[in-house]
Amino acid sequence: MKRLLSVIILVSIFALSSCEEDRVDPYYAYGTAMDTNVSICIYGGNKNAANSCLELLYDLEGQFSVTAKGSKLSALNRGELVEDKGHFYTLCGLANEICTLTEGAYNPCVYPLVKLWGFTTGNYNVPSEDKIAESIKLVNESKIVFKQEGICIEGDGAADFGGIAKGYASDVLREHLKSQGVDGAVISLGGNIATVGSKPDGKKWSIGINSPKGNGGLLGTLLLGECAVVTSGSYFRNFVENGKFYHHIIDPQSGEPADSGLVSVTVIAKDAALADGLSTAFFVMGMENAKIVAESLDVETVFVTENEIYVSSGLKEKFTPDSSVEGEYQIIYN
Ligand code: ADP
Ligand code: MG
Repeated sequence: MKRLLSVIILVSIFALSSCEEDRVDPYYAYGTAMDTNVSICIYGGNKNAANSCLELLYDLEGQFSVTAKGSKLSALNRGELVEDKGHFYTLCGLANEICTLTEGAYNPCVYPLVKLWGFTTGNYNVPSEDKIAESIKLVNESKIVFKQEGICIEGDGAADFGGIAKGYASDVLREHLKSQGVDGAVISLGGNIATVGSKPDGKKWSIGINSPKGNGGLLGTLLLGECAVVTSGSYFRNFVENGKFYHHIIDPQSGEPADSGLVSVTVIAKDAALADGLSTAFFVMGMENAKIVAESLDVETVFVTENEIYVSSGLKEKFTPDSSVEGEYQIIYN
């Protein structure tokens, strides 16, 4: 957890420092939501715009939380019909779309497995094969459906939006800031960065990608305009039992932490919700299959394995490796 926090803080600080550099009059707002540190740095608009972002975020968290009893997601998971045409409705629709796009590698109904491994509560354990098989069945037999009377889960399973909610929230905050006249901003929710416009001097944002080694270092930086940069990594939430490493991104087919040879996946897209869902899915799918989906959707990627960094060709001019990476990783542009 300590390590997770330091990584999050580092991403935030990095994004913010690039916000501060050329600032005319920057304003920052900080908070904690969706189990991560949040920072919002704005140019233009007024400070109320940044502060109201936090209010919005707490509201979204209250709807999407899998543990808060009063959330819309909890109602859905109790088998209730949820009447909603707002953010919850949109998020459910997006989650289903990304599930289809990635052939179930991202599956919003993965909750029985996430819970079984203890990733919701932090009471980690390696479940028995029987328990895993039972949960896989629940995941496979469940889906989020839209009925005239409301949204519900078909099947006995349950949904978890941990793989997409922060990205979706970043998109909502970005639209909110724009509506408040903000023309330059960096929104940082843990491994999710979304930018608005450009810096006041018209320059691009410099966004750091953390080293999955968890040493606080960077793999490199990306020079980008308005976009979303979302990273999923096995180094975010994990545990070791009997010398074996287990992490929080579950392959719904095996019912176990994904073992695709990747340690980190960064997706760069226009929309943060899409980038978030895809980064989780790509981690499960492995690089080869993920590249096919990424190319079909026109999103850019950075895949990291134990010894290599694969940077998609569209980022060639935008990615600058950190000097510390030399000798540790081979960088391949593909
Ligand atoms: P983070 O939450 O660290 O930003 P991700 O966006 O990759 O990382 O999401 C991982 C979270 O998504 C897990 O903690 C869990 O709640 C959920 N999850 C795990 N595996 C899957 C999956 N295959 N499909 C959808 N959601 C998943
Ligand atoms: Mg994700």
